[in-house]
Amino acid sequence: MEREANLNYVIIGNGVAGIHAAETLRQLDPNGTITMISDEVFPPYCRPMISMVLEGAVPPEKLPIRSSSFYEEFKIEPVLGNRVSAVDVDNRAVSVNGKVYPYDKLLIATGADPRRIKAEGLELKNIFFMRTETHVRQILATLPTVRKALVLGGGLVGFKASYGLLRRGIQVTMLIRSGYPLSMQVDSEAGRMVWDELKAHGLDVRIGVEATAFEGKDSVTKAHLSDGTLLPCDMVVIGKGVFPARGLVPKEKIKVDAGIVVDEHMETSAPGVFAAGDVAESIDIARKSPWVNAIWPEAVAQGRIAGMNMAGRRTAYKGSLSRNVIRIFGMDVMTAGLITPPEAEGFDILKVADSRAKTYRKMVFKGDRLVGMVMVNAIEQGGVLMSLIQSETPIRAPREALLKPCFNFKQLMQM
Ligand SMILES: Cc1cc2nc3c(=O)[nH]c(=O)nc-3n(C[C@H](O)[C@H](O)[C@H](O)COP(=O)(O)OP(=O)(O)OC[C@H]3O[C@@H](n4cnc5c(N)ncnc54)[C@H](O)[C@@H]3O)c2cc1C
Repeated sequence: MEREANLNYVIIGNGVAGIHAAETLRQLDPNGTITMISDEVFPPYCRPMISMVLEGAVPPEKLPIRSSSFYEEFKIEPVLGNRVSAVDVDNRAVSVNGKVYPYDKLLIATGADPRRIKAEGLELKNIFFMRTETHVRQILATLPTVRKALVLGGGLVGFKASYGLLRRGIQVTMLIRSGYPLSMQVDSEAGRMVWDELKAHGLDVRIGVEATAFEGKDSVTKAHLSDGTLLPCDMVVIGKGVFPARGLVPKEKIKVDAGIVVDEHMETSAPGVFAAGDVAESIDIARKSPWVNAIWPEAVAQGRIAGMNMAGRRTAYKGSLSRNVIRIFGMDVMTAGLITPPEAEGFDILKVADSRAKTYRKMVFKGDRLVGMVMVNAIEQGGVLMSLIQSETPIRAPREALLKPCFNFKQLMQM
């Protein structure tokens, strides 16, 4: 019998989705050629941990999640420090710096880029994004000279930047458009609690205000805000969210929406081209519609599933679920799934709050299924609740039971 020629796998992006795909591929196909192209040159690292480096809880040396011999160990050809500008779907090739890399199977695992803003003076020094190890190293280098920081955005990255800087003893002003911090992660009640906790530790939050221009001789010294305020600051962090890094995709050949649209095998509309991680749009388990859930555990899962399917082992992905566990000084917040469902679509909401104990639990149901939760401080059984959402398990017991932190899981299933 004739042996099939070795396959050429090309992976764009050496983030967590890319490396899990590469490891899975190597496990299932010891002979295929794997080329990994990325514009970042560091060994694969833990992106969420850059915020812990900012706050001083972790040194930068702890960021790598694979050793420097990773590429050699898995027989991967690394092509680092290069950004791919286009994918040639017709000729099944990717070119970088004039060199062409043909592929039999391609994975786009390019993650997300920080959203840019329009304002005058963005070229000044000490204005940063916070997405990469390079960004956080640049921020750290300026810290000794910084007393007042301005953070644009109150989403996950804006929040983490503010929290890290506050923990460094820097005065922080946060500008947010929505009514409270972490509005994509928590509902308004929990958002208010988060805000109170941040305020108690000195964060100045301004709602509905934007930065329109920055001033300074060399480095930034002032920000002009849309309400007419002139705010002194010696650092600005832009944390206005992220956008799937899908600019390299030919839209007439590969279907894109907010992200690159994939099926349950993580394959795009172009046969042989897969996508995984922050750049991919898959079915959201709680919403039951396509969604980009740009979180670490989904990037890991999607990378693995993409790797399996690229190697020819047909494996379906159940779908993604948004979730987060966040510690804010003395406060724990845990969220998953749909937290503020659209009104009049048949969702039931149960909640319980204790303002003295500073606890809050909210459960969102569709019929007998749990589809979302938000918990502040009383986060017990959070893992169980999350697996109930993920597995779409029918809840047989009275649903109020889930509001109690000490509910009996076995009883819940047996009734
Ligand atoms: C500050 C911060 C805090 C976070 N906190 C959390 C958290 O608490 N919990 C959580 O679950 N998630 C968190 N995340 C999100 C998490 O880090 C991402 O979901 C995860 O890293 C996505 O992995 P990925 O492999 O899809 O993409 P990435 O890690 O972004 O990797 C993509 C790689 O591809 C490269 N690339 C992009 N375009 C090209 C191109 N055209 N050519 C070549 N290379 C390219 C990029 O430079 C990058 O190296 C956080 C993110 C940040 C920035």
